[in-house]
Amino acid sequence: MAGTTRIPDPAGRFGTYGGRYVPETLVHALSDLETAYDQARRDPGFQQELDRLLRTFVGRPTPFGPAPRLTDAVRRTAPGGRGAAVWLKREDCAHTGAHKINNTIGQGLLALRMGRTRIIAETGAGQHGVATATACARFGLRCEVYMGAEDARRQALNVFRMKLLGATVRVVEDGSRTLKDATNAAMRDWMGSSRTTHYILGSVVGPHPFPMIVRDFQAVIGRECRAQALDAIGRLPDAVVACVGGGSNAAGIFTGFLEDPQVQLLGIEAGGRSERAGDHAAPLSYGHPGILHGSLSYVLQDGDGQTAPVHSCSAGLDYPGVGPEHAWWKDTGRVRYSTATDADALDAFQMLARTEGIIPALETAHAVAGAVRLARELPRDANLVINVSGRGDKDVAEAIRLIDQSGA
Ligand SMILES: *Cc1c(COP(=O)(O)O)cnc(C)c1O
Repeated sequence: MAGTTRIPDPAGRFGTYGGRYVPETLVHALSDLETAYDQARRDPGFQQELDRLLRTFVGRPTPFGPAPRLTDAVRRTAPGGRGAAVWLKREDCAHTGAHKINNTIGQGLLALRMGRTRIIAETGAGQHGVATATACARFGLRCEVYMGAEDARRQALNVFRMKLLGATVRVVEDGSRTLKDATNAAMRDWMGSSRTTHYILGSVVGPHPFPMIVRDFQAVIGRECRAQALDAIGRLPDAVVACVGGGSNAAGIFTGFLEDPQVQLLGIEAGGRSERAGDHAAPLSYGHPGILHGSLSYVLQDGDGQTAPVHSCSAGLDYPGVGPEHAWWKDTGRVRYSTATDADALDAFQMLARTEGIIPALETAHAVAGAVRLARELPRDANLVINVSGRGDKDVAEAIRLIDQSGA
């Protein structure tokens, strides 16, 4: 990014956020990783191999196109003469059905370059676990995925997928037996194993250099989207909307438009059942700066500084923290963040399916809900892009349950 301050700075800071709040034993592994990544990034051979895999294995570039019937639906309910044209960037078309594969292929390739033979990962809903197991199968790397016992029970199908792909699933019985506990277990493993093992973190979170590495591997979304929008629309879009869990699909697409101040960027967090603590998973909207999993960012905490329980109908957004670069973008005002509730997401899930023939992931449905809200306020000649982070096949059973419950 010519002409701009390097972000993160050499200490891994995005403004005051980010950094490396880890035990001494991890500092060495993290600086090895930083050095290896720095060399890989500047090696044309590495970039060529990554591009080749993204094309031939992941199925990139993913499509970009208009959403004419969703646009009509927006305009029918918009106030007098308003309603932007809506466009979709289709990460749901990537291999394994979501953007997560962009990162696992990139980090898998990095692990090979570093001579690592074993991969570990954490997973909540199992999506990152499946994407990691997929990359490991492709590269012939040993793969162990940490997963909370509660999550493993709820996401039995993804546990089976990981095993089918040759991975070992390590079930974590600590704490709330969910993603947070699986992440702690993976970090503990890495403290003792980093000579042979690479830890593939699943989002733009954790200690430096992970937020930077994951952002860079997801930035392909924004690079493609910017070029595709210029080609299809003839100019840059007026707004780009993405859902925010840890923040990787949002960071990936936003990065393509950061230097274009005329492009409004909107991140949508999980508003859950209500604004009350424990009812949502929206740290940027309702949290405060704090340290979680090795970096400083917005976190949902109780009065004693303990990580608060979170809720979302969407397992991929159910995380009490968020990437440090998002914290920086929020404070600087470059990106605006808002929420969509479970009910909003469920409506949007059905709306995109019926109007465009695309069943989105429940995570993505949050972005759709926020995007429809924004599109209604924008003028008719405006163009808005939604990042369709993933497909919803995995969520159909949960959606049926929620729709029955709500009587919709
Ligand atoms: C995991 C996931 C997310 C949330 O993760 P981010 O790091 O915020 O992108 C969003 N959408 C889908 C489809 C996912 O699988």
